[in-house]
Amino acid sequence: MKCRLLAFTCLVTLAFGQTNPAAQAARKWRDQHERAIMDEFISLLAIPNVATDRPNIQRNAETIARMLEKRGVPARLVSVPGGNPVVFGEIKTPGATRTLVLYAHYDGQPLDPKEWATPPFTPTLRDKTLERDGQVIALPSAGTPFNPEWRLYARGSADDKAPIIAMLTALDAIKAAGLKTKSNIKFAFEGEEEAGSVNLAKTLAANKELFSGDLWLMCDGPVHQTRRPLIAFGARGAIRVDITVYGPRGELHSGHYGNWAPNPALSMARLLSSMKDESGRVLVEHFYDEVEPLSALEKRAVAEAPDIDGDLRKEFWLGSVDGGGKKLTELITLPSLNIRGLASSRIGAQASNVIPATANVTLDVRLVKGMDPQHTGQRVLEHIRKQGFFVTDQEPTAEERMSHAKVARVIVGRPEAATRTSMDLPISQEVIRTVDSVRGPAVKLPNMGGGLPLTSVERPLGTRTIVIPMGNHDNNQHSYNENLRLQNLWDGIELMAALLTM
Ligand SMILES: [Zn+2]
Repeated sequence: MKCRLLAFTCLVTLAFGQTNPAAQAARKWRDQHERAIMDEFISLLAIPNVATDRPNIQRNAETIARMLEKRGVPARLVSVPGGNPVVFGEIKTPGATRTLVLYAHYDGQPLDPKEWATPPFTPTLRDKTLERDGQVIALPSAGTPFNPEWRLYARGSADDKAPIIAMLTALDAIKAAGLKTKSNIKFAFEGEEEAGSVNLAKTLAANKELFSGDLWLMCDGPVHQTRRPLIAFGARGAIRVDITVYGPRGELHSGHYGNWAPNPALSMARLLSSMKDESGRVLVEHFYDEVEPLSALEKRAVAEAPDIDGDLRKEFWLGSVDGGGKKLTELITLPSLNIRGLASSRIGAQASNVIPATANVTLDVRLVKGMDPQHTGQRVLEHIRKQGFFVTDQEPTAEERMSHAKVARVIVGRPEAATRTSMDLPISQEVIRTVDSVRGPAVKLPNMGGGLPLTSVERPLGTRTIVIPMGNHDNNQHSYNENLRLQNLWDGIELMAALLTM
């Protein structure tokens, strides 16, 4: 996959060149300061950043605030009781008529250090990815260039401390080149995104003035799989649904009771297969009713996005794909229903000859713009009832289990709604022009497939969000051995310089 896609990326960059003066200044600055940039990045990554680790979260926040202040940006920590601080910084630009807010998060996914090749908070440079047998290498001395294909391994290297370093380095570069910001700039660095952004909306609502802006640029997630820059104008929402289907009170001998006692695993299998057809279309009634159709511009962006499906099929060893012939890029603009995991009794060497007592599944429903999460949750519950189940959200009593042929306990989790900023807006068009001026045309998506706390920003502030990622797609985000490809950091610095001077 890589050779073909990379050749294409090179061609695009050559054909369009880099026309943005701030991005050019950023490249020059980075060329001369690679080691210093990496040193600052490494010292930030060395502070553990799991959201529940309060003392270290505080150290991260204070360190980032100091990094802003070192650059002449007044900074403070803003929080609500029980919440991790949001690091806030502000550049007031005389005569500016709008405010851009740059967002990233400094916390990282929880981890088990035993799974990591090198300790997650000891940032380690490798000459290739671990999958390609990358070896640990020492940092080159100041003045010696870094190979841009090297990888830096550490929790948070890609998700999501890299954008923080990119923004701060871009500030250095702009200042050194004598360039000026045109908009007011605010920085908002969250400390519990990976814990579900549980306090973000509250923190913003309690500090509306401080965090208000015309646009929030959400710098999180990976760029396109082709390594071309990516702009996503929204994100899908999600609802988690946990289902337990009940059989006998306890496991029964399958020889003595098979053919007689109903099997909850089979019952669950039937329920799940009733939810989707062979092509992956969701069969829950009215599931797609509220989906807001794509605009003409959004449809064009989807059509113009690179077709990588064939390459991805090879990379993931897929003999077939869902979607009835639609491309991945289009399919992520639609809602989905997915089995996250499925369990009933024991299997393999641990299996015993039983009829299980329960079967359990966790689903996620991905939402797109227009869908009311409450309605969607109700529709899923209604679908389960229509398959003949008595549905409860409590552990069913003996009475309930004996008086209904089929019993399911269903817990619908706290939903996150989807959102999408229109690509037609003047500010959206300006973001597109700015990003395109850095490394050639970006891939534009109406929304990302995954979730981001966009509604937690938009609702309390009445603002808009656009997602501008910079990590490499093969960064092991959320897993062990998370890593950043250095070229993505270098590109990110240029991108941030362009956005800061927009
Ligand atoms: Zn992230």
